[in-house]
Amino acid sequence: TVAFLNDQWMALEEAKISPLDRGFLYGDGVYEVIPVHKGQPVALNAHVSRLTRGLSDIKLHVNKTSEEWRSLIIDVVTHNQRGDEPADYTAIYLHVSRGADTKRHHAFPQGITPTVFAFSFDIPPPPPKQRENVNCLQVGLSEDKRWKRCHIKSTSLLGNVLHYQAAAEQGLAETILYNEHRQVTEASSCNVFAVIAGIVVTPPLDLQLLPGITRLCVIQALKSAHIPVEERVLTVEELLRSDEVWLTSSTKEIAPVSQVDGHLIGDGRAGEYWERAINALDNVKFTL
Ligand code: PMP
Repeated sequence: TVAFLNDQWMALEEAKISPLDRGFLYGDGVYEVIPVHKGQPVALNAHVSRLTRGLSDIKLHVNKTSEEWRSLIIDVVTHNQRGDEPADYTAIYLHVSRGADTKRHHAFPQGITPTVFAFSFDIPPPPPKQRENVNCLQVGLSEDKRWKRCHIKSTSLLGNVLHYQAAAEQGLAETILYNEHRQVTEASSCNVFAVIAGIVVTPPLDLQLLPGITRLCVIQALKSAHIPVEERVLTVEELLRSDEVWLTSSTKEIAPVSQVDGHLIGDGRAGEYWERAINALDNVKFTL
């Protein structure tokens, strides 16, 4: 694997950063994961705009235009091509931290250079697009105990990791999170969709959830396929009674859920709307 670190290309094993890097000491940074299917980045513009928004939200100034971010991502893809053929399914991890200080101090240091790190890794091929053949996930349900800035794709992921790990220890694939009003926010590493009486529902964007790029693609795909979709508050009680539940993320695309906290969803198999959504997704994922 070829990595990019601070304007240099190197083998991933050679990439080294200072222990005083604020990404290491404080989780002071933002990141992106961009899926690349047969050499083509998925929703490249949308990923770059979320990155630049995140950088501005955390007041981290990097001297790169959106065009330069896009070409950096494409360069990482090119540097990791095996032979002349692009690899089938990979993702680019792109990380920007505030950089290394000379001491440990909370306030932003002046005049340091941000750390920009990127590498490529293999991801599993997307699951089959037929209802009969796809695997469904069993997931947990827990109160969201993260912070109140979940719209930032921050590298401070401890809150997410603890939620994810608690689910994994129960043999579950993920955990769906809800706020103090029992409204669904998202899952520890995915966004959540539910199908209720023929309408696809997903929680509205606010500070409680990440504006997922797959979420955006799915909403766009549903609209173009004339499938009703609503961004609105979704309660836990509605979620448990819904006909279908899906989790979306760059690496999972749209994963159907069979059980939430031991409650069977629909008949426990991927549903009709899931199949329509996953097939509609291909028409938009390279356009955003
Ligand atoms: N929510 C959280 C907390 C995430 O970490 C992620 C990304 N893994 C998502 C949602 C999905 O975002 P995307 O579709 O951009 O991968």
